[in-house]
Amino acid sequence: MTRKTIMNKVHRIVLKVGSQVLTAKGKSLSQAVFDRLAREISAAKKKGYEVVIVSSGAIAAGMSRLGFLEKPKTIPQKQAAAAIGQSALMWNYERAFTGYGEKVAQVLLTRDDLSNRRRYLNARNTLLTLLGLGVIPIINENDTVVVEEIKFGDNDNLSALVTSLVNADLLIILSDIDGLYDGDPRLSKDAKLIPLVRQVTAEMEKKASGTLSPISIGGMVTKLQAARKAALFGVPMILANGMVEGIIGRIFQAEDVGTLFTSEVNKLNSRKHWIAFTLEPQGRIIVDNGAKKAILQKGKSLLPSGVLATEGEFSLGDPVVLVDLQKEEFAKGLSNYGSAEINKIKGLKTTEVENKLGYKYGDEIIHRDDLVVL
Ligand code: GLU
Repeated sequence: MTRKTIMNKVHRIVLKVGSQVLTAKGKSLSQAVFDRLAREISAAKKKGYEVVIVSSGAIAAGMSRLGFLEKPKTIPQKQAAAAIGQSALMWNYERAFTGYGEKVAQVLLTRDDLSNRRRYLNARNTLLTLLGLGVIPIINENDTVVVEEIKFGDNDNLSALVTSLVNADLLIILSDIDGLYDGDPRLSKDAKLIPLVRQVTAEMEKKASGTLSPISIGGMVTKLQAARKAALFGVPMILANGMVEGIIGRIFQAEDVGTLFTSEVNKLNSRKHWIAFTLEPQGRIIVDNGAKKAILQKGKSLLPSGVLATEGEFSLGDPVVLVDLQKEEFAKGLSNYGSAEINKIKGLKTTEVENKLGYKYGDEIIHRDDLVVL
């Protein structure tokens, strides 16, 4: 697929802007950068594109207000910096976009919000309503309330999940680098930009070095993770240099800027994407080889007869991982039964479940619609 064919089909875009871009690699938010982004995004919007922004920069802005030179180490300090910086971040967006007649809205999300189907749908409805009203949603992680377990951790990954949340057609990540290189351009002059990546490989992820910046969180690794997630959802991603004037317009004109990561053909629907990437598994179900084969080769549901054991305590509706006899994880899904119930009905035929429990939620332990092969 060429850039032109991809861009022709694009209508809704998730655009992620990193802290390095918003501070112009300096210590505080750069008004000039916000103005440029607002100008370029408003121009795209006037052409009919819908844009959802995922913006970092809260912690960076808070650090500058507090006079911190280095990123705070403790979580409460990071949270305090984010709380101070988030209003500064939004103030800059408000000011810049108002200059172009556009309205913005702040949306703060945590992993918990997207793990819970009801809150996921609420977030989705709000975002779609905002887009319907012609408003530009500006999303950041709700740093104030997150602890390690419920953190996205970085906005690159968050932006990929938002792509699925709002059913976007393209993910753009604006960073302080021109795209993906075959080496480290900071260390070697011979490193060359890779214009097209058809598939993110494990080798690429291994090669990608972590960030060297004192203020941002993700390096190239999280960008590759985002590309992989978006691709699984059937969405291409463009990684480009947000420091370059006019970059957004050039992307929309299908110019060969940055690195394009194309998507795989078989796209997961958004529910399966949500199951695969957003949900934290609460336990594991060990299944026999017959069940594994039926799931992997025939796309079948998991039935009680294929279950050997469970690990961890989980309840009805919880996300769980399926493992084979070698303890290898091969699928993830939402369980129709809690672990205690499964232990009573494992190995049974579906017709025996009701007798055993006195009730039945369904024939399947995990229905195929709720099951994603990893
Ligand atoms: N939520 C963080 C912030 O706004 C940024 C996370 C990231 O850089 O990926 O400061």
